[in-house]
This record gives sequence, structure tokens and C-alpha cells, in this order.
Amino acid sequence: MRRTDTGERSRRLGTEATGATEDAGAPVIPLAVPHLHGNEWRYLRECVDSGVVSSVGSFVDRFEREFATAVGTDHAVACSSGTAALHVALRLAGAREGALVATSTFSFIASANAAHYTGADLLLVDSESATWNLDTERLHAEVVRRARVGGQLPDIVEAVHVLGHPTQMEPLLALRDEFGILVVEDAAEALGARWSDGALAGRQVGTAGVLGCFSFNGNKTITTGGGGMIVTDDGELARRAKHLTTQARLDGAGYVHDEVGYNYRLPNLGAAVGLAQLEQLPALLDAKRAIARRYRESLADAPVVPPPHADWAEPSCWLYALLLGPDTVDPSRLLRALAGRGVQTRPLWRPLHQQAPYATTPRLGGAVAEHLADRGLALPSSAGLHPDQQQHVIECLLAALQPARGRP
Ligand SMILES: *Cc1c(COP(=O)(O)O)cnc(C)c1O
Repeated sequence: MRRTDTGERSRRLGTEATGATEDAGAPVIPLAVPHLHGNEWRYLRECVDSGVVSSVGSFVDRFEREFATAVGTDHAVACSSGTAALHVALRLAGAREGALVATSTFSFIASANAAHYTGADLLLVDSESATWNLDTERLHAEVVRRARVGGQLPDIVEAVHVLGHPTQMEPLLALRDEFGILVVEDAAEALGARWSDGALAGRQVGTAGVLGCFSFNGNKTITTGGGGMIVTDDGELARRAKHLTTQARLDGAGYVHDEVGYNYRLPNLGAAVGLAQLEQLPALLDAKRAIARRYRESLADAPVVPPPHADWAEPSCWLYALLLGPDTVDPSRLLRALAGRGVQTRPLWRPLHQQAPYATTPRLGGAVAEHLADRGLALPSSAGLHPDQQQHVIECLLAALQPARGRP
């Protein structure tokens, strides 16, 4: 990626993406916008020129093949969204009425919705402070306890790699080995993240569970406009995933279907953009990691807690989020102060157990997730964020934190 001209283009992209200028004509610096500077136009033009724009197209096949190679799995099945990918993956792993799916209460609501669509019951698990991911040791202890008293065990753990930081997998793999509990990974935010130590050293997230899912929504590391992917090493599960995402239609000329499937296919147009984006993945990850490094270094003395970075993990740094220290302003005031200076920020998710659809769902703890929601703030992290723009974000942030630091 050539820094100079991507900087110029991203500045323009930022202006176009939000359309608004809030102070002195400066463009708003957006939270997370796509970076479309590769073969997107060329591949889209090929689609349009050939007339093959919908779901049976060579870009779908190519995108699936090259995605599987990039992530390190045998199979990849493209879907219309990350949520659709999770829905099908969870169903294939056995989620249905009467089954129990454990997942993180601190996540985007799609993680829980996808499980809910299958008819399964949910168990929401608090986060661990070390990674902000599902507290896998707490879950492990609870499963052991339930097994002892004859309680219901989860059938599936849906492990969300929150904000691109890998989940600590050993306790989950132990649950698989001891109790047959399957792991489905919600890697929507974590494309390119790896484990760097332990049994999974060198492996990318999405490849440790029986099935892994990714999202290509506009704010994710790569985008298809909207889309998702299921990855697996199991050929039969991949075949079933393709079948379910294409209305469960049997091969042949006729309209013969052997079960209730879904129209969850990714159009060729989206796959064309996705393939072009995938070609840029190493550069996009480099850019995101450099952004994270600059925030971490520049804010080292500020009254904020940086996002997790365990020494056994190589996060994707999809979105940089920090926690405001206890004696500083609250996130909503900071958000308004930064908005006034043209910087878009966002609070972290309200935990799922505090959302209307899941308010009465059984859970393990929740205080850590609530703290993350109370004190967390996500900063501009687009791959095209120019260092000058980032410097502006940092200066605005430090200035907004300043008055509170002087207070008794
Ligand atoms: C974005 C996201 C999803 C859903 O992906 P879509 O493509 O928007 O449907 C699921 N889980 C997590 C954690 C996400 O961040």
C-alpha cells in the first residue's frame, strides 16, 4: 500500500462517507469505513460485462477458494451476511430446539440472534478482563459443576473473537474433548488474527472450531458490501452448508428440495469486490496494526486502559477500543466532545443480558461486560486513516481528557 496516495484517497473517502463537516470545514474522521483501492472496479466490470451478477458466478467460486487458502482451511462457503453464516454454522453444529448454545454476553447482538433463529436456548457468559472475550475458564468450571449435578450442558460454544482478539481456546478444546461440546467460532471481527503460542500456535482464528464464520459488512476488515463466509475442514459440513444456503435444492434440472433451506447466497457482484479486497488483506492488516500501535504509544501516559493484547495472541486490530479510567469523563461526554471536533467515536456494545430480547436469558456473571460497556470507547480505525488524521484524533482525545485529570 502506497502511503501517500492512499492517505489522499482515504481523506476523500472519509468526506464522502459521512457527508458532514462539523468544524471549520474539516472532514469528519469516520470510525471504520472500507478501503477500496485494488481490483474492485475491474472485477465488478467483468461481472457486469459478462451479465453474471447473481449467485452462480465464477467470482463466488474464486472468492471461496482463495478465502479458504488465506485463512488456512479446506473449505469456504460464501453467504449473504455474517449473521446468515452463523445461523447455518450453528444449525449444522446441532443448534435446534432443546439445544443449548453458550456465547459471550459482550458481543454484537448478531452472535445471539443467529443462535436464537435455530430455536436453541442461550447461556450468556461474562467476559474475562484479560481479552474481553468469553471467560472460557469460568465456562469450563460451570460445565464441570453442571456435569456433577446432572444439569444441562451446552451443546455448542459460540466463541466470539471480540474486536479481533483471539479467544483463549484451551479450556474450550478441553470441553470438546471431555464433554463433546462443539466450538463454532464467530470470527466476524477477527479476519487475519492468529494464536501465536500453545497448541494452536500459527493458526488463524476461524480454524479451531468445527466451523468458523466471518463477516464482510462495510465496517469489517474486508467488505463485499454485505456478506459472510463459513469455513471448515470437514467436506461433508461444507457440502451441507452450501446446500442449506441455496434453498436445499437438489442437483438436477427440477425444483426438488429435501429440507427447509435458506436464500443465503452471496451474489457474484459482492464476491467480485470480496476477491479484490482479499488480495489487499495483508496490507489492510498491516495498516490496522500500525494504527493500533500508534494509539497505544501515543496514549501510554493518558488515563485510559488500552485494549487487550495477550502475549499468546496476534490480534487483527480491527477496531481500536479503550477503556476510560475511573476518574475521567464518561464515554458519552467524550464522544460528544470529539464529535464537535470532527472525530467519530462509538461506545462499546451494551451486553446482551441488558438488551430487551435477552434480558431474561440465563447467564454466568456479567459485571465485566457491563464495565466494558460503561467505560469503553472505540476510536477511528479505518485502514485508510492517515497518520495526520490519527494525530488529530489523539490530540482531541488528550485535550478532552485534560480537565478531568486536574480535578481533585
Ligand atoms: C458484524 C458481526 C456479525 C454479523 O455480521 P453481518 O455480516 O453484519 O451479518 C456477527 N458477529 C459479530 C461479532 C460481528 O461483529
